[in-house]
Amino acid sequence: MLCQQGADQPSEECEQGGSEADRGNEACRKVAHIAAAGILERPDPDEAEKSGDERHGGEERRSHQPAPPKAPLGPHLREQSGEAGPHQDREREADEDHRPVHGAGASREPAVRQSIGQRMDEPILDCLIIGGGPAGLTAAIYLARFHLDILVVDGGKSRASWIPCTRNVSGFPDGINGEELLQRMRDQACKYGAKIETEFVTKLERDKETGHFTATWGSGEASARTVLLATGVTNRRPPMDEELHDDALARGLVRYCPICDGYEVTDKRVGVIGSDSHGVAEAVFIRSFTVDVTLIAPDKAMRLGPEDRKKLKDAAIECVDGPTQAVATTGECIVVDTAEGHYTFDTIYPALGSDTHTQLAEMVGADLSGESCVKVDSHQRTNLAGVYAAGDVVIGLDQISHAMGEGGVAATTIRNDLSKERPLLRESPGQ
Ligand SMILES: Cc1cc2nc3c(=O)[nH]c(=O)nc-3n(C[C@H](O)[C@H](O)[C@H](O)COP(=O)(O)OP(=O)(O)OC[C@H]3O[C@@H](n4cnc5c(N)ncnc54)[C@H](O)[C@@H]3O)c2cc1C
Repeated sequence: MLCQQGADQPSEECEQGGSEADRGNEACRKVAHIAAAGILERPDPDEAEKSGDERHGGEERRSHQPAPPKAPLGPHLREQSGEAGPHQDREREADEDHRPVHGAGASREPAVRQSIGQRMDEPILDCLIIGGGPAGLTAAIYLARFHLDILVVDGGKSRASWIPCTRNVSGFPDGINGEELLQRMRDQACKYGAKIETEFVTKLERDKETGHFTATWGSGEASARTVLLATGVTNRRPPMDEELHDDALARGLVRYCPICDGYEVTDKRVGVIGSDSHGVAEAVFIRSFTVDVTLIAPDKAMRLGPEDRKKLKDAAIECVDGPTQAVATTGECIVVDTAEGHYTFDTIYPALGSDTHTQLAEMVGADLSGESCVKVDSHQRTNLAGVYAAGDVVIGLDQISHAMGEGGVAATTIRNDLSKERPLLRESPGQ
């Protein structure tokens, strides 16, 4: 098979200028059509358990992530508050005053305390956020701006950091690199007093008497009144060499999220590695972007029921038997070795599901949904008082905008729940 390389092949570099605006309008219309067909519809927001219907290909199949390592993953690496940021000033002030490190508010705010907690004697955080992707960092921005004492502990593996250039995040018409977006969010959170540590939390416990939570990681621990779990998911990778995978991902030859970047494969040759109804749904979804879609079974001959076969036939999607391995990239194409020979594509989408990071939720007894995600109500509360969850770890549309939205909702709920325990009344700057 030949690889199609159109002159307008989109680069994975975030570009300047609005030249794609017209095509963007067209893409909006297509997605609106898909939504109308029910693929992206939201369930009733008041349902205690969110339904999995709003996910499609690549995101539905969830399972538990393998247990976290018992030993710490590494030494304490860094505090992300920046070399000369306001947080460091604040920490210095805290040391001078013998106040706890996790003080309230940013340094440029008046040096006052709120009435919540007894900060002088009790270094209990108002909220510990576990996970520093778009969900956790948005919550951190909100909570820090509510003048609450918070800490983000982040394993540093946000799915957003894999994104060479996202073009569907509002406000960035020319796209933005995922790591740059995360850095901006970290800077914003730290500007208002959030602390961020790069660590992997291996244990989370709840003290029955106080109701406080203690999280433990390699080089330390922290206690908090509330915990927000924003630990995300990990996509299952197709069988291929790791270096080849990372290079292909950076160049848009491997993609994981057709909702995010299906537009970029418009009129391209696309291979979907997947089987069963999940792979079929992803292939049919991508068919709205291009006529040339091939569904490839990952490990054995394709086994599909008559209904799925009909969907593929109606959409003119070719089916290829596995086992499959992506073996090489040539120029701007990726070569896949299958049971039926070599195929060359502009992009492959693995549709192999993902593993949800729910271990900490399970440790404290938070309920999981049928899709192995953390179960929350419409305010991001789990069944366990003081434990909240947001982002991909909760069932929903696995997208940055959604993770940010849930982070904002969770933060506001946490603030309001804390204020029910003790009113959040700001003291006069003179006190
Ligand atoms: C290749 C790719 C491209 C994508 N493109 C787009 C796009 O263009 N637009 C879009 O909207 N979405 C896109 N997405 C999806 C988007 O990245 C996710 O929906 C988003 O990152 C979810 O945010 P989150 O905060 O819930 O989880 P994540 O961003 O995954 O962050 C979770 C964080 O929690 C940390 N963590 C997990 N367990 C622990 C622990 N025990 N202790 C401490 N930290 C822990 C992880 O290390 C990680 O840093 C893409 C995803 C991928 C993989």
